[in-house]
Amino acid sequence: MSAIKEPSFRESVDLMFNRAVALMDLPPGLEEKIRVCNATYTVRFGVRLRGQIQTFTGYRSVHSEHMEPVKGGIRFAPSVNQNEVEALAALMTYKCALVEAPFGGSKGGLCIDPRKYDEHELERITRRFAYELAKRDLIHPSQNVPAPDMGTGEREMAWIADQYARMNTTDINARACVTGKPLNSGGISGRVEATGRGVQYALQEFFRDARDVEKAGLDGTLDGKRVIVQGLGNVGYHAAKFLSDEDGCKVVGIIERDGALFNEDGIDVDAVQQWLAKHGGVSGYPDATYTREGGKILEEACDILIPAALEGVINMENAARIQAPLIIEAANGPVTAGADEILRKKGTVIIPDMYANAGGVTVSYFEWVKNLSHIRFGRMQRRQEESRHQLVVDELEKISAALGTQYSLTDSFKQKYLRGAGELELVRSGLDDTMRIAYQSMRDVWHDRADVEDLRTAAYLVSIDKVASSYRAKGL
Ligand code: GLU
Repeated sequence: MSAIKEPSFRESVDLMFNRAVALMDLPPGLEEKIRVCNATYTVRFGVRLRGQIQTFTGYRSVHSEHMEPVKGGIRFAPSVNQNEVEALAALMTYKCALVEAPFGGSKGGLCIDPRKYDEHELERITRRFAYELAKRDLIHPSQNVPAPDMGTGEREMAWIADQYARMNTTDINARACVTGKPLNSGGISGRVEATGRGVQYALQEFFRDARDVEKAGLDGTLDGKRVIVQGLGNVGYHAAKFLSDEDGCKVVGIIERDGALFNEDGIDVDAVQQWLAKHGGVSGYPDATYTREGGKILEEACDILIPAALEGVINMENAARIQAPLIIEAANGPVTAGADEILRKKGTVIIPDMYANAGGVTVSYFEWVKNLSHIRFGRMQRRQEESRHQLVVDELEKISAALGTQYSLTDSFKQKYLRGAGELELVRSGLDDTMRIAYQSMRDVWHDRADVEDLRTAAYLVSIDKVASSYRAKGL
């Protein structure tokens, strides 16, 4: 690719796809079939608000139906447009294939600044949008299952689920029409933080292989690594929090809408999040240096850079100045194809979006399965597991009593061992397993094939191959 003009997000996804398929041997025409978006539905609807009718524009795009239902979030943002929704839908196809979530790819968006509306107004707008989509089967447990994305969360998903249920009063699987719902409306433990958790598990797996760590010019473990995070929304906040609380990382920079914070000694992620919730921005936060020009902090020296906000933030203009040797794309499309080329040449290792932020859809998959099976994970096994463990502990205690007190079991061991796995533990275990296996499949291609320079191309190769096999099996 000759990198002259900055490619748009959609062009970037296509360019990255093309780089990968050039290394594959797909039957003629199949490459084009996989690349294109199957359908995009545009809806314009009016809602009477504040004494007048306001018209809203929304989209639901279906990229690939090689597996159904298709899956992907609904974004609420003023910048939403058809090209963006289609690029995001394509990424969902590859993401689901890579982590073996049995879905095709889809995405939705509504052009709206949600901060300009109160809760009651947002509910009416969301329900109306959901109505328009549901009546065309673009929300449906076996056809198309939305989820949260930027600007939406549990609350919106509960409204969508309820709207679908009102329209389909006899559908026993109605709750499976959308994921990311609150626990009391059919949600699953661990979904809110799933994407951030997935970013943490991805980095843990990366650091398990010394060769990969060395490729990034780093060494050791996650402990003590300096992290800069862009965007302290749901994904960025949880990733930064887990990495600092549980893996010993030091969050030295936080970039937000109104500027950035920097402190070489580390920043308390929870304290900043509370400050942000109270003041609407990071400026004025006392325990770090504030810079209005947030973009500058993206270029600061650190070990791991986590873009967790918008697409295109690392582009041809700033790529050469990015110092981080390792970037993990918690957002979708934060690095443009032009920047990707510059960074690749510099030797920067990028853990690509379709893998890095797949934790969300992975736990969405578990939620959908839970809804279809109508039972909470762990409900049948938990106490049985506990009583079997109790048997072992009782036996061991008998033996240790005979041997003397120096052989007795510690209380902390007993507490951990005797606790049967509940839903949250099972969700975490399933997510960790998924992130490890997907990373290994990507890494094997990266290491084994001399013509694959980077993890992104490896990720595309793994996922396109899976999508292609599905099409082949269907006789296409
Ligand atoms: N919106 C999230 C994503 O981009 C989650 C999608 C889902 O859970 O279906 O992956």
